[in-house]
Amino acid sequence: MKLGAIEAGGTKFVCAVGNDQGEILGKVVIPTEAPSITMPKVYEFFKSKGIERMGIGSFGPIDLNENGGSYGTIQKTPKIDWVDFPLADEIKKHLNVPVIVDTDVNVAALSESRWGNATDVDTCLYITVGTGIGAGAVVNGATVKGLSHPEMGHIGVRRHKEDSFEGKCPYHKDCLEGMAAGPAIEARWGKAGVELADDPQVWDMEAYYLAQGLVNYIYVLSPERIIMGGGVMQQEQLFGRIREYVIEMLNGYVSSPRLTADNIDEYIVPPGLTNEAGVKGALGLAMD
Ligand code: ADP
Ligand code: ZN
Repeated sequence: MKLGAIEAGGTKFVCAVGNDQGEILGKVVIPTEAPSITMPKVYEFFKSKGIERMGIGSFGPIDLNENGGSYGTIQKTPKIDWVDFPLADEIKKHLNVPVIVDTDVNVAALSESRWGNATDVDTCLYITVGTGIGAGAVVNGATVKGLSHPEMGHIGVRRHKEDSFEGKCPYHKDCLEGMAAGPAIEARWGKAGVELADDPQVWDMEAYYLAQGLVNYIYVLSPERIIMGGGVMQQEQLFGRIREYVIEMLNGYVSSPRLTADNIDEYIVPPGLTNEAGVKGALGLAMD
């Protein structure tokens, strides 16, 4: 059976045809412009490929409530042209196939759980730290959603005692994303993260905030593995400091061998998949 998969991102749409074994058979990359420019190219690629279902991992926010009448509609994104665009309905209408949509981060979690660094566990969380902070999760093979989708990047955090930065989230100012996403690092220190690589203070503070996020996710979701990706996590020194802070902040309260100093290196890990993670995860959605 042939299946369609789309990784719908803020800068590009990666479109692929795959099969029900999870193999990608053909792929095209289309720049994200206005829907009226991008979408006809998407339809053109998939037309006459004989796909029977489509899976999409999309930027958001996007409505994932199957009973609300606007399933798969993009919500209030800064990408103005896409606000209220009914992505799932339009694809269904043009290609005449059932469409399954999820968030880009849920799809990344799904991909890691099937083919990446979480194939040996039932429950995992994927967090990206980049232009924003977003996280998705897989529990027993299915991504987590409900009311709509989780917004784990916007949880509240305790301020670092040496930090007077006001925060950069347009909605909450000093939420986790407002304090620790790439643009917050740049606004606080006056330079992009990549130029601050040699300043330990920057990464200690960054780890302090990200670890608070992880500790909250551990309390709420109890994931058996946490995968951290995104541009900011290219600073590999973050991993060690985050692991130390997580153990310190949990203070022994959650008893699991995975959360000990000996094993935490296998608990908080970088992604196992790189280039095709998004589009493969979208294929995974169509396979279900
Ligand atoms: P996006 O979130 O838009 O998909 P990225 O995950 O690449 O894209 O995140 C971009 C953010 O990550 C920017 O704020 C950038 O400054 C930061 N960033 C990218 N590469 C690095 C790096 N090597 N070290 C530190 N920060 C980085
Ligand atoms: Zn926020």
